[in-house]
Amino acid sequence: MEFCPKCGKILLPDKDGNLKCSCGYEDSISDEEVKEQYSFEGETNPQQEVIVTDKKSTAMPTKKITCYKCGGTEGVWWVLQTRSADEAPTYFIRCTNCGNTWRQSN
Ligand SMILES: [Zn+2]
Ligand SMILES: [Zn+2]
Repeated sequence: MEFCPKCGKILLPDKDGNLKCSCGYEDSISDEEVKEQYSFEGETNPQQEVIVTDKKSTAMPTKKITCYKCGGTEGVWWVLQTRSADEAPTYFIRCTNCGNTWRQSN
């Protein structure tokens, strides 16, 4: 996943293969690896679930993590209440090194 360097949101590809952000930022997908990352349409891998947040990473609390992608040790975290209020809130972690985001189940 690529993140917008301006606002930190996840960039989504359009049909022309350009990455676009709702803040107006645009980039083109030139890297084959990046293209592959975007080619898993329809698959649901909980470890790669895409979370769009308006919060800037600088305003989020940090915690010690171990990123399964890059081995980074610092991440930011936030909590989302999913589906119904009866369910336990879900914690999300984003690696500050590579931007990898995943769900923590505690
Ligand atoms: Zn943006
Ligand atoms: Zn990482």
